[in-house]
Parts: sequence; C-alpha cells; structure tokens
Amino acid sequence: MTEARPVVEGANHTVAAADGYEPVIGLEIHVQLSTRTKMFCGCEIRFGERPNTHTCPVCLGLPGALPVVNERAVIFAAMIGLAFGSDVARRSLFHRKNYFYPDSPKGYQISQYDEPLCRGGRLGDVRIHRVHLEEDAAKLEHISASGRIHGSERSVVDFNRCGTPLVEIVTEPDLRTPEQAREWLTLLRATLRALGVSDVDMSQGSLRVDANVSVRRAGSRELGTKTELKNMNSFRFLERGLRAEIDRQLGVVRAGLTVEQETLHFDPASGRLTTLRSKEEAHDYRYFPEPDLMPLEVGDELLQAARSAIPELPAQRAARFEHDLGLSAGRARELAFRGELGDYFERVVAAADAAPAPELANWIPLLVERIGSDTDPAGSRVAPEGLAALAAMVSRRELSRDAARTVLSRMVEIGGDPSSLAEREGLLALPGGDGQLAELVERAIAQDPGAAEQVRANNMKAIGPLVGYVMRETKGRADGGEVRRLILERLAPH
Ligand code: ADP
Ligand code: MG
Ligand code: ZN
Repeated sequence: MTEARPVVEGANHTVAAADGYEPVIGLEIHVQLSTRTKMFCGCEIRFGERPNTHTCPVCLGLPGALPVVNERAVIFAAMIGLAFGSDVARRSLFHRKNYFYPDSPKGYQISQYDEPLCRGGRLGDVRIHRVHLEEDAAKLEHISASGRIHGSERSVVDFNRCGTPLVEIVTEPDLRTPEQAREWLTLLRATLRALGVSDVDMSQGSLRVDANVSVRRAGSRELGTKTELKNMNSFRFLERGLRAEIDRQLGVVRAGLTVEQETLHFDPASGRLTTLRSKEEAHDYRYFPEPDLMPLEVGDELLQAARSAIPELPAQRAARFEHDLGLSAGRARELAFRGELGDYFERVVAAADAAPAPELANWIPLLVERIGSDTDPAGSRVAPEGLAALAAMVSRRELSRDAARTVLSRMVEIGGDPSSLAEREGLLALPGGDGQLAELVERAIAQDPGAAEQVRANNMKAIGPLVGYVMRETKGRADGGEVRRLILERLAPH
C-alpha cells in the first residue's frame, strides 16, 4: 500500500475564541526507533542498564571514528513515510547540526536538513511536512542532595542513549485545539505502534512532542508569531501546556501587544510556562553536509521491503469498523486506535453468531472499565467467546442489561461462562410471559396508586417509580423494556 487515506478524525473542531481569534498548532515529534543497534554504530540499544556500558568510539565521538548507516533504521523511517503517503526520496542527505551541550560528545548531531528522507503526506486531518532521520543525544541527569533539578549540585551523562535512531516527524500547522492535538497524537501513536517501529512510550521518552502554537484572527490565512513548547512528556501535559500557552497568547494580543517568538518550558506541577531561550534560527546551527557519510540512497529493494512490512493501520481499521461493521465513528476510533482493543473486538466478532457487531462493540468499554484501561483484555479472565455469549444472552432476552453487567463483573473476577454464572447467581431474566412479572407489576401498582393514576392520565414520567419497584424486587433481572410494556398495557387509558 502506498498511502493511508484521511478517513478518520471526525469534524474539524475549529474553535474560534469569542472575540474572533483562533489558535494554530503544529507538532514536531521525535520517535525513538526500536532497532537492535544504534543509528551509526553497532552498540546495542538498552534502557535501564548501568550507565555508559553501551558505547563505542563512534557514539562517543572519539577522533577518527566513522559512522555507518543502520539500514534497519532507514527501512523503519521509510515505513513511517509510506504510512503517511509521503514521497520517499531515493536520495537524501545527512547534515551536521552543530551545537555545544554536554549531551553531545561530537559537538554536533547527525541529522537531515534540506534533503530529508520523506516529504508530504498526511495522517488523519493533518498534513505531514516532512519525516527525517537523526540520532538521539545522551541522557543528562541532574543530581542534588534535595532531589531538585534546578539548583542541582552536579549533572551526570549517560551515553547509552547517545546515537539511538530517531525519526523526526514535522506536521503542517493544521491543528486548531489542544484536544484535537491530543486526539491526533493518539492516532499517531497507534499508527507507529501498528508499524512496530517504536515502543512509543511518552513516559520513557521514546515518543517526545514539541508543540508550536500561535493565535490569529479567525478567517485569516496568515500565521501569527509562534512559540514552541518543550518538555511535554504526557498527552495530558501536552493538552494542558497548550491550553495555558493559548490563553497567555490571547491575553497578549487582546492587550494590543505582540507575541514574542520564544521557546517555553511547561512545568506540569505548577502549570507555569517559563522561557527557555529566545528562538534559535537554522543558521545558528551552521548546518553542513556530513562529510563522513555518502548520500543516503533508497533502492527498489529497500522500498519494497518497507512497503511489504506495513500492516493494516489504525485509520484504515477504524474505517473498516465503521463502514463494514456498522460501528459509530467514535466507537470505531476508540477500538482501532488501541490496537489490543481492536484485536480483542475482532475475536469477539468472530466468536459471535447472533449479536450484531455494534452491540458487541458496546461491551468492550464496559470490560475495559472493569479491568482497568492499561490492561489488555486478551490477558483478562474474560475470553472473547465468553463476551460474545454474554451479548447473545442479552439479545435473546435471557439476561437484562443490568444483570449482564453484573455477570460481566463476575467474569472479570473469577472467569467462567456467562450462562452458568448467571444461573448460579440467580440472575437469569424473568420471562415476561410466565405470569411472574405480571404479578410484580400488579404489586407495583398497588403500592403506588398515585403514580399509577398519573400514568393512566398519560403522565409518562410517573412510570419511573413503578418500573423501579419491579427492578428492585427482581434485583435487576427483569427486562426493563418488557416491564414498561406490561405496565403500560395494564394502565392503558380506556
Ligand atoms: P522553525 O523554522 O521555527 O523550525 P518550521 O516552519 O520548521 O519552523 O515549523 C516547525 C513547526 O512549527 C511545524 O510543525 C509547523 O507546522 C509549526 N508552525 C510553523 N509556523 C507556525 C505558526 N505560526 N503557528 C503554529 N505552528 C507553526
Ligand atoms: Mg524546526
Ligand atoms: Zn556506539
């Protein structure tokens, strides 16, 4: 496949501020690739090991050491580009991006500059500007007796991370709200995870997001001056940081002042934004072509390898759930953007014979609620066959919806099949036809004649307490719809 069509991402949530300003957001995302070895040397990539044990002259930047491109990293980057429908360049260049900081032993980062590996494409509603390859820096840790980062006594460097392959994804400024940015990142993360090119864990730093944001008069086509937010290491912080910065900028422009271009740090603890530096320009980095590397050539074989490694992606899967299985767009995204939920749902669908897919899909969030949103349902006690059987019992009216939720909770706790659980717990539905329910309806009416009178007079609100009585008496085993029907039949005005 060559491209993922923008089938998801519902409406454009363009929200103009009340007095006619709108936010504009573009993201720069760094993704650590999960190759076995580093970008330009053979050191293994390991996390959480003793510092400085996976290094060599290349990734330590010792004089005379020469970089060699990791082909697997190129394939991974090409897969990402192909998933966006980007143009993958047959020839691209590595540049040196020069800067001085203790996390960079060479004094420069090997990156790509004006001839990146991939250009264009899109994911969901958002156009992709470019995708390029580069290397990660070392990890700095700031240590102080008090445990504070600022005012630390000393900083230490771990070069194990230095030289890890990174892909930088730069979007066009197509996002309009913090929520939309967050939802789009969820799609991006699901896509990268489906590609299997990264473990995309924000808390571990394998997915890092910088957000560029500006405000402008709604309807204007020009872009306002942007600021860049760094250090957003969770989706929630990203959303909160963006909201804080948008509010700040709106305050500035409403006061008739102008926004200054700068790089900001968002502190999630205080919710405060502080200036890191006024924005650097590309020429500050003295980019020049990396003299130790040939231009990066992407041949047919490599491109074919990348293409054939691309599975069905979340956007396509959401479209299939929506159009082939009849799920709502929201539910389709909810399941498709978390791959393990989508996998589990498909197993439930395969196991079901009667219940329609949208019915089955409704049970997944109920299951997730019970097992916790970080747990893969495949690892829970609830087998897909069991969930399908539960849904079937509800559609055959053998279980009321309430009783089925109770059965589901029991399945989560102790496993087992729903029909024997329901029977053992006395939760099987009371069939409407056998007189038991009719008798309970009589009792409900007898103990609340006032409500009965109102229902007779077509005040339908008054039916609530009557239905409630029967549901209480049956401990939720009765089918609510059937109870309603029986009450209305009994209290029909003549
Ligand atoms: P820079 O030269 O500062 O790196 P780029 O043009 O390369 O800026 O864009 C970097 C990122 O900032 C991209 O994701 C882009 O979409 C976004 N961006 C650019 N201009 C704006 C703007 N005025 N408002 C919001 N985002 C922007
Ligand atoms: Mg940039
Ligand atoms: Zn190395």
